[in-house]
Amino acid sequence: MTDTTAQLVSDYLDHGKLPNLPNGHFIDGKFVAGSTGEMLQSFDPGNGKVIGTFATGNAKDIDDAVASSQKGFEIWRRMKPSQRCDILNKASELLLKNEAIVSVMETIDSGKTLVEAQGDVRNSARLLQYYAGAADKLDGRSINMGEDLTAWTSREPVGVTAHIIPWNYPTSTFVRGVAPALAAGCSVVAKPAETTPYTALLIAEILSEAGVPDGVVNVVTGLGSTAGAPLVVDPRVKHVTFTGSVGTGVNVMQAVAPNVTRLTLELGGKSPLVALSDSDVEAVAEGALWAIFSNAGQICSAGSRLVLHDSIHDDVMSRLLEKTKGLKWGHGLRNPDMGAINSDLHLGRVKAHVDAARDRGRSILTGGNVTTDQETGQGWFFEPTIIDRLATDDAAVQEEIFGPVLAVQVVKSDEDAIQAANATEFGLVAGVYSRDISRALRLARELDAGQITINDYWAGGIELPFGGNGKSGFGREKGWEGLDAYTKTKSIAVRL
Ligand code: NAD
Repeated sequence: MTDTTAQLVSDYLDHGKLPNLPNGHFIDGKFVAGSTGEMLQSFDPGNGKVIGTFATGNAKDIDDAVASSQKGFEIWRRMKPSQRCDILNKASELLLKNEAIVSVMETIDSGKTLVEAQGDVRNSARLLQYYAGAADKLDGRSINMGEDLTAWTSREPVGVTAHIIPWNYPTSTFVRGVAPALAAGCSVVAKPAETTPYTALLIAEILSEAGVPDGVVNVVTGLGSTAGAPLVVDPRVKHVTFTGSVGTGVNVMQAVAPNVTRLTLELGGKSPLVALSDSDVEAVAEGALWAIFSNAGQICSAGSRLVLHDSIHDDVMSRLLEKTKGLKWGHGLRNPDMGAINSDLHLGRVKAHVDAARDRGRSILTGGNVTTDQETGQGWFFEPTIIDRLATDDAAVQEEIFGPVLAVQVVKSDEDAIQAANATEFGLVAGVYSRDISRALRLARELDAGQITINDYWAGGIELPFGGNGKSGFGREKGWEGLDAYTKTKSIAVRL
């Protein structure tokens, strides 16, 4: 931990002193008060206390932000790609320089552990660097159409883009959309989630300091219904990148239809970690532990189902249970194994899912209850929970719980494993464990998921395209494919 980080942590934990909170929306390169002056409160999930307020954006604020973004787009798209590359590289450096404040702020606002928040900031800096490198490489193709024509394509920026951000990864979800959009020459209006408004504002300021012209990146805070809804239907917005729940994603899809606005949907998941009979049982137990309990299970791609071959079930489960019972949870700034649940409201949802499984007589091997910080007795926490031997039609297998709750399914063959793994409406990621690479690859071919990792769960970095099938959504973020949403291909042919 750097001295600055240690100081910020001690200021908050020992003296209740918060870092300076960004104030207002970020529009046209500066912080501005919301048009109504109405404010919402944001809470620290680690202790349940209010940390501050933020502006409640409405249609007028969105109108201002989109107008500013349109103006910014005309400047940004005409800039030399190499200049955009330099600015994004500079932003990456500045974000790393500001890691202490951004990660501490994120921990306090979201409830995650500091280590997780720091990882998120570093990932975001890498995303900026990766897409900085793409800014001057978005070339078209020259196309052979015979002797009397010459033809080529160019990739042009789509225009103003809207980014709707969820609360579980407020920093990196913001950057993973904004970085490729900026690299492609697009401008941005982003709406962070109502429980985690601050880090997008901090990063918008960092982008501005790095040289992104005024108006190119705007952030309007507030509710989905009053700020998100007018943003996605604004006809000046040419692409919407929505990350959030399936229900809201469906609403957004319907809302943008009349304008025929381009759309990326990054929705939920119920991703399986599949362990075949010849797996390394210790690797499976360790992989399954962090697949579900990282970020207290509040990850769209969490390994929330363990599809386990009968012959290794007992061995894996005894190891996994021992590891799970050893986990510590508490305020994220003290860096326990597991942080908080992001809101009181969401904690209630996690509890309801587990209560329903309990009511159906399902076997809860460990956890299963709402709890508090093990040191202070405060905050919004849920015990790390494992529910064993669930059937495919169990709600705990079919529904995204988005908390530290692992659903275990037992199978008797590789064919059963494929069927069980594919038997949900989602298709985001999957893990496959086997010592036989041919067996594992055969499974990988059959599994319906956007990203598959063999003999690990979290191998996917920023270079690998990420996104879902089925109700997990469509479109890909990260990697080279992450640029597709933000460019449109133009063909030009010339008769000679
Ligand atoms: P949510 O759908 O409740 O909210 C997401 C965002 O949408 C918030 O900013 C919210 O204010 C906004 N919103 C709400 N109504 C809107 C409307 N009518 N128009 C425009 N915007 C609106 O989701 P959440 O609870 O914040 O996030 C958790 C969900 O996000 C989980 O389902 C999780 O799986 C998913 N998620 C997916 C990914 C991914 O990459 N696939 C990543 C992170 C989270």
